[in-house]
Amino acid sequence: MNFHVLTLFPEMIENGMNTSITGRAITKGLLTLEAVNIRDYAFNKHQKVDDYTYGGGAGMLMQAEPVYLAYEAIANRTAKKPRVVYLTPQGQVFNQAMAREMAQEEDLVFLCGHYEGIDERVLEEIVTDYVSIGDYVLTGGELPAMVMMDSISRMVPGVLNNQESGETESFAGNLLEYPQYSRPEEWHGKKVPEVLMSGHHANIEKWRREQSIYRTAKRRPDLLKKADLTNKEWNYVRQ
Ligand code: SAM
Repeated sequence: MNFHVLTLFPEMIENGMNTSITGRAITKGLLTLEAVNIRDYAFNKHQKVDDYTYGGGAGMLMQAEPVYLAYEAIANRTAKKPRVVYLTPQGQVFNQAMAREMAQEEDLVFLCGHYEGIDERVLEEIVTDYVSIGDYVLTGGELPAMVMMDSISRMVPGVLNNQESGETESFAGNLLEYPQYSRPEEWHGKKVPEVLMSGHHANIEKWRREQSIYRTAKRRPDLLKKADLTNKEWNYVRQ
């Protein structure tokens, strides 16, 4: 999986991604990361990339040409025309299913806006996916791009080792994960549930499934509607 990021702040992407699990995956060659500075494609005296918006209004807009040239420099090297994700609060809200689907791509280009955003004309020419990370406005697309790359990376075979396996995590089967505990057995007067120390695997599995359902019903009832529950489990939730 090759990540290409078009940004005005490449150091932000490089520092963030070359850390922890994604950093290890890059070192191992399971992922590659290229942060392209859009400013390098602004061929004017001060490498200026933004200008006033036509029609007036507050703030500056990133201009079309440097973004386009930076994109072309990547697209000329990829095996096929790459998918280009523009991070924008106006996009479809990112979720685990999108991460899973995008992890199938060989190359993904992330376009990070700044200031008031980017000239619409270049977006029309190069963007294939408009993606938001939530209904709020950030100062730039770098954090959203890192959120997406982190989550997509976890779907790439070999990135997570067995201990970090994502198979039983939240959103698998549209349920949230069950509560978890580590040592000591008692902390601040709170004991680890007896069943988890019983060594009885079937009972532990049953308890975890029930807790997942309970938790999802309480915190994310919208997800539960899409979960695959038995009639018995539905009755249990309704109690
Ligand atoms: N004027 C734009 C609007 O109202 O839709 C917002 C521009 S925002 C200040 C600057 C940049 O941050 C955007 O171009 C985008 O790349 C990024 N951004 C801000 N909020 C985001 C979000 N919720 N999800 C993804 N990207 C976001």
